[in-house]
Amino acid sequence: MTGELTLRVITPDHIVLDTTASSIQAPGVDGLLGILPRHAPMVASLDIGLLTFRSGGKQEAIFVSGGFLEVRDNTVRVVSEAGERPEEIDQERAESAEKRARERLEQGRSLHSAEIDLLRAELSLKRASKRQQAKSYSSSLV
Ligand code: ATP
Repeated sequence: MTGELTLRVITPDHIVLDTTASSIQAPGVDGLLGILPRHAPMVASLDIGLLTFRSGGKQEAIFVSGGFLEVRDNTVRVVSEAGERPEEIDQERAESAEKRARERLEQGRSLHSAEIDLLRAELSLKRASKRQQAKSYSSSLV
């Protein structure tokens, strides 16, 4: 497939990415979304996870936390509640968040806490683990 995509990712507090890519994979709520140039117009809801893309011959990953993705005229726009490039991710903070979430889940289950508290802890755990995955993604590539 010839041509390139423009990829823009924004959150409430910053522009995470404004670049070109030859292919993009995004974590849709119903599964992974694969996008190549000349993709049909589309809007989709995003999950917490890794958005990966190929740019300048390199495979890269960023962390996104929900929101929406729109594809139109070879441009992919992502608006997410949070998003970070690997170098922006604070590994220690993500590890602490993971530990906190695991403790909450353990205590919550034994104390039969409200569903809503368990759900919050599960979402927090997912953000923390996906952040760590995004951080280690590029170094894991050969
Ligand atoms: P924490 O419990 O550490 O605050 P969280 O998952 O609750 O984590 P979010 O609500 O997803 O945090 O994000 C709040 C803000 O903090 C966002 O601007 C997000 O980019 C930033 N943020 C959260 N965790 C990290 C991290 N590990 N590294 C860098 N920025 C982070």
